[in-house]
Amino acid sequence: MKRRYPAGNMSNSDHIHRSSVPIITYAILGIVILVALGMPALQSKFIYPRFINLNIEKTEDDAIRIGRIMMRMVLQDYVDESFIITEKTKTFLDQTTRDYVLGKVNVFSSSGETIFSTTREDVGKINNHSYFTDIVAKGRVYTKVVLKDTKSLEEQVITDDVVEIYIPILEKGKFVGAFELYYNISAHKDSMDAIIAGTNLLLQSLAGIIVIVVMGAAVGLHRGMKERKKFEDMLFNLATRDRLTGLYNRGRFLDMLQWTVEKHIRYQDKTSLLMFDIDRFKNVNDTYGHQAGDEVLVAVARMCEQVMRKSDMVARYGGEEFVVLLPETDQTGAAKIAEKLRQAVSELVISCVKGRIRVTISIGVVDFSEVDELSFDSVIKLADDRLYKAKKMGRNRVMPQ
Ligand code: GH3
Ligand code: MG
Ligand code: MG
Repeated sequence: MKRRYPAGNMSNSDHIHRSSVPIITYAILGIVILVALGMPALQSKFIYPRFINLNIEKTEDDAIRIGRIMMRMVLQDYVDESFIITEKTKTFLDQTTRDYVLGKVNVFSSSGETIFSTTREDVGKINNHSYFTDIVAKGRVYTKVVLKDTKSLEEQVITDDVVEIYIPILEKGKFVGAFELYYNISAHKDSMDAIIAGTNLLLQSLAGIIVIVVMGAAVGLHRGMKERKKFEDMLFNLATRDRLTGLYNRGRFLDMLQWTVEKHIRYQDKTSLLMFDIDRFKNVNDTYGHQAGDEVLVAVARMCEQVMRKSDMVARYGGEEFVVLLPETDQTGAAKIAEKLRQAVSELVISCVKGRIRVTISIGVVDFSEVDELSFDSVIKLADDRLYKAKKMGRNRVMPQ
């Protein structure tokens, strides 16, 4: 079945007026969504580790400060190039360990032997790890963050998040021993994690809101554009189509004819024009009424569309007069299709309340290449002349010259 409305063949030309959402708009919306979704990832991949490191550095400073206080006390027990840790110092160290909630405190001699430990069974153990001999023994502080349930430098599984710190003890610039303490950062880390989790949740909610808003905007934009396109199509149809038959109207045809004539002058392509008129149509109106006349006009229009190709342009020129622009068609081809149309219309039977109506048509055929001084007017005039000639010669015929 062919479309009832809009009709008129060459329907593809209507799409010249297509309007759509510019691709750049979708690109911008896409970027906004990507940024919104990327924010939480950016935060956990770059901002979170940086934040943790900053806090750990700060914690290390605190731990070193406590370590130095304890170290000064221990240095008082350094006599004749060796440590003899007094009970007073031990009590002080045990107390300070408790006061600062330190995990553990060890004191090593310069050879790495544990000469004091808040964990008493560690006393006597030798630390000969490379970090001790290569870093601490050379007078530098050594730090490692040991997270809960992982192993410390001494291969012990730690039950809290700690910073394990080795501070060398220097007597007049000479390495005489070292101090180790476990500074508990669990509370610190937990509050930091809570802050991060909070900001993460906030960022994710924000990202979610942004995505929803942007998607909403995109859907709204798309709908708006679709509505606008529909409205534009409606306006375009109103301006270019004939109300009764749905074919192209005279104005649209004349525009196309102008364009086709110029194209032919430029490229000498094969183009023909048919102009046809219903014979004695006045009688139809008089006999069957204006309403029936309208039905005949519609039936002839539909038949013409059926006979022509999709690429042909069928238009209502006015009253009961029609025109067809035939691209890529010469005189012989145009005469043939005109004859086919004449025959088809003559066989058409239109039923109305007052009976069955049959009509015939007369057709003038013009091949653009045979028109002297081809122009918009000259081609119309020649088609009209041939149509008139067909009428004069008895109607229901094709006049190709
Ligand atoms: P000819 O064979 O010489 O063409 O005779 P004709 O009667 O067809 O020509 P004429 O120009 O005398 O009459 C054309 C008629 O077409 C007159 C007019 O009322 C009728 N007509 C024009 N437009 C319409 C329309 O939209 N609907 C109807 N029902 N009739 C129309
Ligand atoms: Mg007529
Ligand atoms: Mg007429």
